[in-house]
Amino acid sequence: MFKSIIAQNKAKTIISEQIKNNKIPHGYIFMGEDGIGKNTTAIEFVKILNCTINDYTKTDVGACNHCIACEQINKGSYPDLHIINFAKQAEILEEDVDKQKTLKIDTIRYMQKNVYMKATEGKWKVFILEPAEKMTTAAANCLLKTLEEPPENTIIILIAKHKETIPITIVSRAQTVFFQPLPTNEIANYLQQQHSLSIENSVKIANLSDGSIEKAEMLMLNTQNEYSSLWSELTSKKLAAVDILNKSKSVSKDRKSVVEAVNIITESAIKNFRREPYKYTDIIEKLTESKKYLNQNVNPNTVLDDLFIYINSKIK
Ligand SMILES: [Zn+2]
Repeated sequence: MFKSIIAQNKAKTIISEQIKNNKIPHGYIFMGEDGIGKNTTAIEFVKILNCTINDYTKTDVGACNHCIACEQINKGSYPDLHIINFAKQAEILEEDVDKQKTLKIDTIRYMQKNVYMKATEGKWKVFILEPAEKMTTAAANCLLKTLEEPPENTIIILIAKHKETIPITIVSRAQTVFFQPLPTNEIANYLQQQHSLSIENSVKIANLSDGSIEKAEMLMLNTQNEYSSLWSELTSKKLAAVDILNKSKSVSKDRKSVVEAVNIITESAIKNFRREPYKYTDIIEKLTESKKYLNQNVNPNTVLDDLFIYINSKIK
């Protein structure tokens, strides 16, 4: 169970045991920093409970991920999964999302209306409420009533960074599951697999990520921006050969980082090509050729040196 969730063995064990023993509490608090798997685990949990192929009471393989229920949950269209967050509150109150700083009582009341309606399709009706630490006192008191007398087969998962502002009355009625920052190597692996990042870049970013996938992905975007500045550096003015080769050298750590840089430069080149095709046709051809060489195992440093010199030579 929960095979798709990175690390978090303690949290996974607690929830898996409850599922296997069919002793599932009505209230949970998933606690920990952003971007470490709390929401992903909550969603996986909903899939395991409602999967129409793999019955959680008979097997511990987890959700099938392709039945109608699993697919709808993945797409966010499952009728018995309700996600209550600032975006939902903005919709309910007809306000800007940016204006939502607390979870208000009206939002909890809206949620409660759904809580007491019968599940439409699923075996379990699940409410994911986030950020729970931002509930107003009135909202928390209102929610307490539901946690005290929840309808059958209903689960409320509160997602929170910390519990300082969550009333003890709520904490005592829910199972708190702690999520830990992810190990650096797990984040590096994730970046390599999901974003085809080079080993060197992925480790560099993972070390700065404080154990959060979300932060790592933000940092990764910034790294890509670093590469995308290469295009403007190479095309803004004529450069001395030595400067061009130094730029190339700063990227050429391994084949993957060269491929990454070439892909990002291609994106910039295509944007310019759309505006002024006659000016950039040669560069697009050169980029295509470079990619071909990279696939044919030609030395990536040589390919990049040659490409950078060519791009700069085309600048009038
Ligand atoms: Zn399924």
